[in-house]
Amino acid sequence: MSTNSETILDVRNLQTSFFTSELEVKAVDGVSFKVPKGKTIGIVGESGSGKSITSLSILRLIQNPGKVVGGEVLFNGENILEKSEAQMRKIRGNDISMIFQEPMTSLNPVYTVGQQIGEAFQIHEKLGKKEAIKKSIDMLKLVGIPSPEKRVHQYPFELSGGMRQRVMIAMALACNPKLLIADEPTTALDVTIQAQILELMKDLQDRLGMSIIMITHDLGVVAETCDYVAVMYCGKVVEYASVKDLFNNPRHPYTVGLLNSLP
Ligand code: ADP
Ligand code: MG
Repeated sequence: MSTNSETILDVRNLQTSFFTSELEVKAVDGVSFKVPKGKTIGIVGESGSGKSITSLSILRLIQNPGKVVGGEVLFNGENILEKSEAQMRKIRGNDISMIFQEPMTSLNPVYTVGQQIGEAFQIHEKLGKKEAIKKSIDMLKLVGIPSPEKRVHQYPFELSGGMRQRVMIAMALACNPKLLIADEPTTALDVTIQAQILELMKDLQDRLGMSIIMITHDLGVVAETCDYVAVMYCGKVVEYASVKDLFNNPRHPYTVGLLNSLP
C-alpha cells in the first residue's frame, strides 16, 4: 500500500488498548484503511467492534485507561500520532472535525446556537461577535435550518433533535475541515429525520468537496452515502472494498452475515 497525493488519511496498523486491572483489552487491533480525497468511506460493524475508538484514536482523544499502542495515522502524508498536543489542537481546529451520535450531550446547554457556532469563527478567523453571529446565520442556512435569524439566538433545548444535529454539523463545518468524521450521526434520530440528515451530508460533500468517514452500524447508511467501506469485527477490519463490490461480492463470512441480515 502506498500513500499518494490523492489519499487524505492513511491509517496503518492502528492499535489501541484499554488497560484495566492488568488486563489488556485490544479495542482496535491492527486497523488499516485509506480515505481517498473527496470520498466518503464507511466504517461499519456491530456495537463494541471498535468503530468509535478508531475515530477517537485518529484524533488523539483517547483517555486513560486507553492508549494508542501502535501504528501510524498519516494525514496528508504526516503521522499525526507523532505531533505535539499543541499541533494536534490545531489539526482538530482546522483540518479534521468530528460529529457525534447524540447532539444534546455535545452542545452546551447554556450557550445559544450562535454563540456556539460563532466561537469557531471568533477563535479561528479572529472575527468580532457581530461578524461571528452573521457567519453563524450563514452556516445555519447552509445546513438547512429554517428561520436562521431567529434560531441563532435560541438555546439547544428550543430545537428539535434533527435541528440540533444540523447545528452540530454546522459547528463541525465552521472551521472548513478537510476531513469530517461522523460517528453514527443519525442513530439517535427518527427514521424520516435520519434520511434528511444523510441527504444533507451528501449535499454538503458535493458542494464543499471534503472527505468523510461515516461510522455506522447500519449498512443502509453505507449504501446511501459511502464510496468505500471498511467492515470492523472485534477490533479488526475484516474487509475493505468499494461499496459496490461489498454488496455484490462480499468476501468475508462476517460481511456475508451482515448482508443476509438486511431486511
Ligand atoms: P463501537 O463504537 O464499535 O460500538 P467502541 O469503539 O466504542 O465500539 O468500543 C470498542 C471496544 O473498546 C469495546 O468493546 C470495549 O471492549 C473497549 N472499550 C471502549 N471504551 C472503553 C473503556 N472506557 N474502558 C475499557 N474498554 C473500553
Ligand atoms: Mg460507537
